Amino acid sequence: MAGRLFSLLDVAPTIASVLGIDLSKTDGHSIDVVEKWGCRNVVLIIIDSLGYDLYQWLEPQLESIPALARDGLLLRAETVSNHTTPAIATILSGLLPEHHGILDKAGAKESSTISIPEIASASGLKTAVIMEQNGADVYQGLIEITGGIPDSISPEDFDYEVCRMTLQAIAQRPRLLVAYFIGIDKSVHLGRGPKEIKEAAQIIDRCVGKILCAAEEQTLFIICGDHPIHAGGLRRIKGPFAVALILGKSKEQDGE
Ligand SMILES: [Zn+2]
Repeated sequence: MAGRLFSLLDVAPTIASVLGIDLSKTDGHSIDVVEKWGCRNVVLIIIDSLGYDLYQWLEPQLESIPALARDGLLLRAETVSNHTTPAIATILSGLLPEHHGILDKAGAKESSTISIPEIASASGLKTAVIMEQNGADVYQGLIEITGGIPDSISPEDFDYEVCRMTLQAIAQRPRLLVAYFIGIDKSVHLGRGPKEIKEAAQIIDRCVGKILCAAEEQTLFIICGDHPIHAGGLRRIKGPFAVALILGKSKEQDGE
């Protein structure tokens, strides 16, 4: 793995290889070290605006995510777009924006690009997607479990709701679960400062801890940002534009 550059394009092929499903077309590469971990389920957590530098700054204030990274991997992953919708479409499809063509929310509804939740579900694997309402609507009727959260509520309420719905979904033992947290990004867009951004990250971190506890053994956790902060005082103005990409395994449950 030495010297390999990582990208958000690698997330979908890594999920496909762990779940043993066929992602017929991709612009990325599976992160093959993960294949040796013996995982059979995947939880993908997308944290809006979790740039690599931002993660390094937040890390001392967090518990669950750094613990996962310590036993797993923390990678610097190259981004594909400075905008949420095309970046998330890349995470979920393994395709460059010019290949998936999803540039805004309307495009996401009309697109014929097949993403990893649909492929997993079509391959007979129970799949859950918990995200903002528009995004979740795209999957309605195509996968087993969808949870949509209105964009209009406060960042804290949004992420608490994502957490609650994710825990509910994980109790149904999906093979693939995708959850999307918005609090950091929303706090930035509301003009809030570093203290509030840290608090938003801590809410997400505590929820990741709960999801980790609730997940079955042999679950691969993938946590990533979609782009670095793109507004406000902490905005990243110069490249390289990279996000945090964390991979780790759920805890082994203690025997009786
Ligand atoms: Zn975003």
